[in-house]
Amino acid sequence: MDADFERGAEYAARRDETDPLAHLADRFYDPEDEWYVDGNSLGLLSEDAEEALDRAVSEWRDLAIRGWTDADPPWFHYGERLGDRLAPLVGATPEEVVVANSTTVNIHTLIGTFYDRAEGSNIVVDELDFPTDHYAVRAQLRQRGADPDEALTVVESRDGRTIETEDVVAAMDDDTAIVFLPSVLYRSGQLLDVERITAAAHDRDILAGFDLAHSVGAVPHDLSAVGVDFAVWCSYKYLNAGPGAIAGLYVNERHFGETPALAGWWGHEKETQFEMNPTYTPAADAGAYQIGTVPVLSAAPLAGSLDVFADAGDATDDTDALLETGIEAVREKSLRLTEYLIFLVDERLPDCEVGTPRDAERRGGHVAVEHPEAYRVSEALKERGVVVDFRPPNVVRICPSPLYTGYEDVWQVVEQLRQVVENEEYERFEERGGGVT
Ligand SMILES: *Cc1c(COP(=O)(O)O)cnc(C)c1O
Repeated sequence: MDADFERGAEYAARRDETDPLAHLADRFYDPEDEWYVDGNSLGLLSEDAEEALDRAVSEWRDLAIRGWTDADPPWFHYGERLGDRLAPLVGATPEEVVVANSTTVNIHTLIGTFYDRAEGSNIVVDELDFPTDHYAVRAQLRQRGADPDEALTVVESRDGRTIETEDVVAAMDDDTAIVFLPSVLYRSGQLLDVERITAAAHDRDILAGFDLAHSVGAVPHDLSAVGVDFAVWCSYKYLNAGPGAIAGLYVNERHFGETPALAGWWGHEKETQFEMNPTYTPAADAGAYQIGTVPVLSAAPLAGSLDVFADAGDATDDTDALLETGIEAVREKSLRLTEYLIFLVDERLPDCEVGTPRDAERRGGHVAVEHPEAYRVSEALKERGVVVDFRPPNVVRICPSPLYTGYEDVWQVVEQLRQVVENEEYERFEERGGGVT
């Protein structure tokens, strides 16, 4: 814990003044009179992302079909070029990363592909996973004639919040094909030990895949060096690329040349794609996992968004280095903000509990604040202009997104939460029905 945190609002203002990333917030459309701390669900629009989208629309207007070859970058290679730029954020080579499809579709194609080539027959997941991951893995098992209830090994949580690495390791056996886990748990915000899990899997010839949806853009990764086999992520959370934006994926180069489970012409070897052969030759790199035509309009904002990350980096002429140091600076600020948030919850909210690991090494970019009335508390917060989300049964997720959230925002959010809880303001709200929260 940063020893010099103080409880008062003046302290937050002082921290904002000396925050080297504070100026980046000006580039985001931060709703007036609101505290937006839901960037782990949907990141805010930046001017950069908006301009990149506008540019794509202009190219469509001005170039029409010629955009595939004459746009900048040409749309034909849009997925690969954006993949090149994303690679430093996940610690991969440019060839190992591409943007394509949605996260769920990428789980389908990667799990399908690697299940086919792996030795074993079961897949290890954990019980705190984001549901779509299980839906997709189960569907792939069913399609391969396996019974998901038998073939899915679900690591249990000891405390309902976190997953122990040793429990993951203990769940792997001689019949395990793949271990597929999130880097950061969507509810508690625990950061899993990607390196240890991958090493333990490889010791037993098991493939290791990760869903980085809750870490990409907040936590740096080192996928190639660690030797992770494959990974997926979405771009609308910390990467701020917009609702339903194109997703990303990584495949380690030692697996290049496999035929993807879900093949499509956009993953064909680029040089010969337009020869229109009825048989499929996969691209020689991660590009093979694209399926249909790249959705340029849902990819363009990511190009602008990455400029903001580059500007968080130390000035240099090398874009890769800029993005690498950018994500390090983002992580540094993110850890300080979440630590400060935890400090304030401990100091000022005796009726709430922190469900997120306190150890920085085990923490992603958001904090789970637990309260028995979490649903109604989150409704009362929204009425006060604090945009959070609720995750059942008892979690209010608060995400200080480091590119646009400051210390004073964190202080204000905790102050609003204190008033809601202390005055039992949530009593005025209805119990939970269904719907999006
Ligand atoms: C947000 C999220 C997804 C979303 O998948 P989509 O296909 O974009 O709907 C998947 N997995 C995890 C862990 C997530 O956090």
